[in-house]
Amino acid sequence: MPRPISATVAVSSLSHNLQRVATCLEQSCSTARPRRPNIWAVIKANAYGHGIDEAVRGFSQADGLAMLDLNEAVRCRELGWTKPIMLLEGFFEPADLAVLDEYRLTTALHSQEQLDMLAAATLAQPLHAFVKLNVGMNRLGFSEQSYPQAYEQARQLCRQGKLAWAGKMSHFARADDDAATTRAQLGVFERCAAGLPGPFSVCNSAATLTPGFWTTVPDDGDQWVRPGICLYGSSPFADQSADSLGLRPAMTLASQLISVREIAHDDGVGYGHTFRAPNNMRIGIVACGYADGYPRHAGTGTPIVVDGVRTTLVGRVSMDMLAVDLTPVPQARPGSPVVLWGEGGPSVDDVALAAGTIGYELLCAVAPRVPRKVIDSFVHKEIA
Ligand SMILES: *Cc1c(COP(=O)(O)O)cnc(C)c1O
Repeated sequence: MPRPISATVAVSSLSHNLQRVATCLEQSCSTARPRRPNIWAVIKANAYGHGIDEAVRGFSQADGLAMLDLNEAVRCRELGWTKPIMLLEGFFEPADLAVLDEYRLTTALHSQEQLDMLAAATLAQPLHAFVKLNVGMNRLGFSEQSYPQAYEQARQLCRQGKLAWAGKMSHFARADDDAATTRAQLGVFERCAAGLPGPFSVCNSAATLTPGFWTTVPDDGDQWVRPGICLYGSSPFADQSADSLGLRPAMTLASQLISVREIAHDDGVGYGHTFRAPNNMRIGIVACGYADGYPRHAGTGTPIVVDGVRTTLVGRVSMDMLAVDLTPVPQARPGSPVVLWGEGGPSVDDVALAAGTIGYELLCAVAPRVPRKVIDSFVHKEIA
């Protein structure tokens, strides 16, 4: 029998969260701008660990899919996705351009090297591209100074039949925690790119879900937002839960107790004995460890649900196991169900907070050895 751990993905939660994002955007639309922007569902990193196949099903109502990996993009086409597919980092070498051409992939253009590769390419049909402006993240994109010239080169590629059109894109660095910086970064976009022809794309989850933010984005033609993390039921904001945003967890990491024991006052638990029993108590051992992708930095006090009851981790997470306090769960025994995060358990964001990281990292890090199940929807479970 395999270990009792599993990661279950509910396709209807993905659809629900996409619909939630669409509704939020519609609510910030006005009579001045009646149509909501198009939505790229961001599915990079194997759809934040949820699976490309599941994402293509769950996000069937999205206007497009955005990712980085060429193989994932090709997989979407093979699954029958006919709407746009966007490569957020574009292409990496000249040979990639044949794949973009064959599978009709939209690309970011963020560097002079990419413009040069495109200028030298032979294509069967013109590509679609967004020229990326660096508004202060300082990762990818042309600077404010070099953008007009880069954009003009892209226009030239349009005239040469290499591009069907050239759009504009940028990415905010602090949409989750600093409205003033985001406004300033939007200002760079407005000064530099708004008004140039072609569609444009801004807004990750945090900007997309910030009330009223959309109405401050210039109404500048065909518009695309790029939410990612919120579509998986994790909050982009440190101070607002996914639940309060109307989002549903799309992945549940669950396992079972494989051992239960009584320990005495001052007994240590796990490597390094970082936890010592404050009194006689019962603990349970869960079949889940850092080799499953559970964060090793989640220490004593990290929330977990055992047999429907909220309790906490005790001691260090080992490679294949972790220990929990069974004081509030006297009925627990080997085989009792455990939810590490997701439906019927703590949110992935609560676990991430306890481990000093973010939900994104935990969702992406679930290890290949964890068996995956795909279901339509979770049955809601109350937690005691
Ligand atoms: C990952 C990514 C997004 C989505 O970000 P979330 O915070 O997950 O919503 C949007 N745009 C780009 C360029 C990205 O790399």
